[in-house]
Amino acid sequence: MNTLSQADINTLISYRHALHAHPELSLEEVWTAGFIRDRLEALGIPVHEKIGGNGLVGVIEGSAPGPAVALRADMDALAISETTGLSYASKNPGKMHACGHDGHVAILIGAATLLARTRNFAGTVHLVFQPAEERFGGARLMIEDGLLERFPFERILGLHNWPDMPAGEVLLHEGPVMAGTSEFDITFRADGAHAAMPHLSGDPLLAGGHFLTGLQQAVARAVDPYEAAVATVGSFHGGHAQNIIPQSADLKGTLRAFRMETLTLLRERTRAVAAAAASIASCTVDLAFDDPICPPVANTPLERDLMRAAVRQAGLAAYRGDPRPTMAGDDFGFFLLHRPGAYAWIGNGPAVLDGRLHQPAYDFNDAIIAPGATLLARTALGALAGRT
Ligand SMILES: [Zn+2]
Ligand SMILES: [Zn+2]
Repeated sequence: MNTLSQADINTLISYRHALHAHPELSLEEVWTAGFIRDRLEALGIPVHEKIGGNGLVGVIEGSAPGPAVALRADMDALAISETTGLSYASKNPGKMHACGHDGHVAILIGAATLLARTRNFAGTVHLVFQPAEERFGGARLMIEDGLLERFPFERILGLHNWPDMPAGEVLLHEGPVMAGTSEFDITFRADGAHAAMPHLSGDPLLAGGHFLTGLQQAVARAVDPYEAAVATVGSFHGGHAQNIIPQSADLKGTLRAFRMETLTLLRERTRAVAAAAASIASCTVDLAFDDPICPPVANTPLERDLMRAAVRQAGLAAYRGDPRPTMAGDDFGFFLLHRPGAYAWIGNGPAVLDGRLHQPAYDFNDAIIAPGATLLARTALGALAGRT
């Protein structure tokens, strides 16, 4: 396989900085999609746009017919005000590439550069640029919009930059990589009353308090201790004065686990705890889950080995540290409901600006664009050739 020249790398870095300066939120990636389309077309790659919103697919045909493989990058940003002070910092107030998806796009354009230059392979590589990873399940939106029928690939591969690992080192988990997620919204309601006359109304704040603690007992008592699970209430709003029992309290939270069965169980327990909390505090309750559950990301063995082989062939270092997965989620799991695949983590190195994922000082490391691009391109070639 050919390699990226220093001029190629400089170009990809300039793309990354342009993307970083123009972050767009989930479902709003219009500028980003246009930027990607123009770069792919300049490489001679036909592009199919508006798949599942702002998603796009570039198709690289090899020099002979053969199987098909997909490489995926996400492209959306977060509602965070950037504090890096970088020359290419966000120009869009309140929006920021704080998860490194700007880097993922640059990496996939880099892989496209390598693959399109020679086309010295049999088969097809589909470049899947996915919108709305951070919110709204863009992977699912692309699938519902016919991704798998229009671009029939046998397996899908992707990666995420990871700040707790040395720069350029690659981790391929044995199985689970990232958790499945299920978000919920709850409102407890009652008539409201004078704070000194609690017998005249139910108490939504009391219900919320019982729910908050009861939910933790669901994790501790309903889930097998050998299963990882998390339930977090991230928002609890209700009331505005010392002397009034309010008419409502709103809570929002998330459930995380590595197996769909565990998430389903936690949903059942969340319903039961919410009903019990409402009953204790004489309230009514409305509980809504964001549907569907975002499935866990777990590597399938063959695809994991394909990526591990590519790590060796590319001369990259395999991460030797703690290989535990994360309870953070990624909607790559929707692709894995339909196709086998693998999701690598590539080390972003020590935080230059003391930033972590989803934090206002985070920055993707430009030094991992070339290794990331080489990894994806080599994995695609290995998949098409059936090498592990
Ligand atoms: Zn993220
Ligand atoms: Zn991310």
